Amino acid sequence: MSQQQRMQGQPMIIMGEDAQRMKDKDAQEHNIAAARAVAESVQSTLGPKGMDKMLVSSMGSVTVTNDGVTILQEMDIDNPTAEMIVEVAETQENEAGDGTTTAVAIAGELLKQAEELLEQDIHPTAIIRGFNLASERARDEIDDIAIDVDREDEDLLRKVAETSMTGKGAELNKEHLSQLIVDAIQAVTVEADDGSYIPDLEFLNIETQTGAAAGDSELLHGAVIDKDPVHEDMPVDLEDASVLLLDQPVEVDEAEADASLSVDSPDQLQQFIEQEEQQLQEKVDKIVETGADVVFCQKGIDDMAQHYLAKEGVLALRRVKKSDMQFLAEVLGAGIVSDLDTAGADDLGTGDLSRDEEAELFYVEGEDSHGVTLLLRGSTEHVVDELERGINDALDVVASTVSDGRVLAGGGAVEVELARRLRDYADSVEGREQLAVEAFGDAVELVPRVLAENAGLDPIDTLVDLRAAHDDGDVTAGLNVFSGDVEDTYESGVVEPAHAKEQAISSAAEAANLVLKIDDIISAGDLSTEGDGEEGGPGGPGGAPGGMGGMGGGMGGMM
Ligand code: ADP
Ligand code: MG
Repeated sequence: MSQQQRMQGQPMIIMGEDAQRMKDKDAQEHNIAAARAVAESVQSTLGPKGMDKMLVSSMGSVTVTNDGVTILQEMDIDNPTAEMIVEVAETQENEAGDGTTTAVAIAGELLKQAEELLEQDIHPTAIIRGFNLASERARDEIDDIAIDVDREDEDLLRKVAETSMTGKGAELNKEHLSQLIVDAIQAVTVEADDGSYIPDLEFLNIETQTGAAAGDSELLHGAVIDKDPVHEDMPVDLEDASVLLLDQPVEVDEAEADASLSVDSPDQLQQFIEQEEQQLQEKVDKIVETGADVVFCQKGIDDMAQHYLAKEGVLALRRVKKSDMQFLAEVLGAGIVSDLDTAGADDLGTGDLSRDEEAELFYVEGEDSHGVTLLLRGSTEHVVDELERGINDALDVVASTVSDGRVLAGGGAVEVELARRLRDYADSVEGREQLAVEAFGDAVELVPRVLAENAGLDPIDTLVDLRAAHDDGDVTAGLNVFSGDVEDTYESGVVEPAHAKEQAISSAAEAANLVLKIDDIISAGDLSTEGDGEEGGPGGPGGAPGGMGGMGGGMGGMM
């Protein structure tokens, strides 16, 4: 996404016209400060005892969340270096689905460590090399530390889901929800010929509904469509129905509807209306001729056509979301039809439909499809939104555990062990890189420190206890944030997928190195066209002409 990221060699940052040029140390200090400011803004949300953020947009809409990537995406950041940190969160979200706060916090801490090394006159290239060495080593060590698990061990999968949900909106009902999550992932997991497990998230849909308790959330086989039939005389409960998915409107063709019409006599008007009705009747006939008992239409259905369809005994739903259409196609084994003229029986899918009048939902189940819908309920929009974010993370970590089969002890256990091993490894590294490898280990230990801090515990004491336990060989000793004790977090069920942690550490390292590589910030002056910041302009990502003032005004909206 970022232009800077794609540039080879030593990137520069092009700044707005008010800015002067910054070089070397000044440039690095400036960039590090900007990136760290962003990273630190999400730190207080880390872990079960982390706080939420309320984000108020300039339009006045409010998001209350604990989710790192959401916070950073909603913050109006227009500093290009700070943007790089936001990208870490986005990469982590895309690659792992969870661990965004961890990734960003480690990136910030790496830069803090780098700053200290720069002050000791260690050259940025040595730091970058050291960070790369450490990052690679961390990957190997995580693999060594990771515990191989049975991918069908429901008990363990539930713990992975619960660890991810703890401290989030989903937490209150975590027992119920973690079971739904595990059931959902298992329902969509296929075992490949080579024996690997592939959770196919295409077959998993999330639907939300307000006005009920989160504990009433349920997992349904097939799709759930939040729509009413277009006509009250239509059948709503159908078995073995032939279903047509149509992404065209069942309306009078636009070209004709738009054409201006001068009517000279009542006869002419009547004739015109009849023509339109005939056209609609023809479209309905074509639908009926395909053999469809049900039509899901992504676009509109004209009142008259609704009436004709009801008369034919066909159930029709209109303005169905595109994502629902695609999911229905999976569930029913149907194609999505764009042209009624060429549509035939082959395009139809088969399934059972039933109507829940009270919830105003349609349940659609396919014959032998493994598509499932997680129907999340919550009292209000804010509650459901935050619930959905938490559930999405939990689904991803369970999916990751099923496909990867490796987990780690959480609560900072893996980070302390990793730091210990990186310090050992540093002894074998020559030159100034050694200091950078050590610094990398220290940076990773930020996680237990912040977990402790956010829980109101003394971070130094906690770290001392944790290190002592690890020196004694307790690889899975982590922090219980509720009791403040050091314990075997694997045993107590705080477990995370190994893949997400690997990803968090490597993308944090990449981002820190990217920031460190910049040794020149040049005001590009006229390059950035005033006023069309929306387009991005030649200034690059995030509307770079923010100047050197640090973060944009948007942060003011954050409390
Ligand atoms: P992220 O966005 O990085 O996933 P979270 O706010 O979800 O951030 O916090 C994740 C961290 O919280 C992980 O390090 C995890 O091990 C830790 N954690 C989760 N549950 C517990 C728990 N019950 N006790 C201690 N640490 C926990
Ligand atoms: Mg998390």
